[in-house]
Amino acid sequence: MDKHALFRAGLDVLHYSGIARLAARFFSGCGAIFMLHHVRPRPSRGFAPNAGLEVTPEFLDEAIRFVKARGYALMALDELVALWEAGETEPERPVAIFTLDDGYRDNADYALEIFRKHACPFTVFVAPAYADGQGELWWSLLEEVIAHNGRVRPALPGLPEEMRCESDDEKMAVWHALYPAVRWQLGEHEQRRWIRDFCARHGVDWQEHCQKEVMDWQALKALAAEPLCSIGAHTVHHYALARLPDAEEVRQEMEISRARIRQELGIEANTLAYPYGDAGSADVREFELAAQAGFSIALTTRKGLLQPEHALAPTAVPRLSLNGFYQNIRYLDVLLTGAPFALAGRLAG
Ligand SMILES: [Zn+2]
Repeated sequence: MDKHALFRAGLDVLHYSGIARLAARFFSGCGAIFMLHHVRPRPSRGFAPNAGLEVTPEFLDEAIRFVKARGYALMALDELVALWEAGETEPERPVAIFTLDDGYRDNADYALEIFRKHACPFTVFVAPAYADGQGELWWSLLEEVIAHNGRVRPALPGLPEEMRCESDDEKMAVWHALYPAVRWQLGEHEQRRWIRDFCARHGVDWQEHCQKEVMDWQALKALAAEPLCSIGAHTVHHYALARLPDAEEVRQEMEISRARIRQELGIEANTLAYPYGDAGSADVREFELAAQAGFSIALTTRKGLLQPEHALAPTAVPRLSLNGFYQNIRYLDVLLTGAPFALAGRLAG
């Protein structure tokens, strides 16, 4: 059983046993900030290791209808900040806030009409290097190379010189061998050099890929003109900030991303989402630097619901991922009770 199947089974136990309902009274908090990446029709090929990063337009629609039916208030991220600044850390109704990282073209092509239909505000977090068409979307490029080649030459320490990836199973095995090395063994700058070389060796154009997937400034400008849309900063190059040795580089990643957004879109981005956002990518140093840089709120991808105490640490706020591997309202229902996070806290602590 893979880890997603195991986690889905756990969510089912919480759901069908009634434990989740009971737990909701204690853990459901003040609502959730949802995190999305791609919103587009289901991938057509069998090998789709990044499918967790995309949900279908239908699932987004269903999720919004679900939280509305449960009495959540659809709210813009700025409105939450305003509530916190007014000392209202326990809103009357739970809130549901939608955020999308990276600025993919499908956000405008598919998600926008769903948000419009529900008059649901949303924030798109923009990384200027991506909007320039110069971002190495390495996880997506890694998938592209493996998908379109029958053999790959990784040039990574500890791995064979050449690896076969003809069938979907072989492709998945190669993915599992390469992904952790690229994500965690290479330094952040080294990782980008590696993926550019890897693409060049295997006939994939990394810039063209970025331009195909991510909105350029012109497209962002059109989306930003939508009254429901807010723009936030997502650093310049989308590095895992905690893995950059030099704090000055981290500070610049944050500040220059905001300056570029101001210059290109005429928007003051006061909100930040940390790239990747997990504990290994954004930690105490980053939380402090984001506060020093003056961001009113900064979002991680640490899993959790909104609690009143998050107002006291607004640059370390968790989110709830609308993950492509869990596109079922039953799972969303359980996650929103807070029971899985309370349980995970118990197990970890
Ligand atoms: Zn991102």
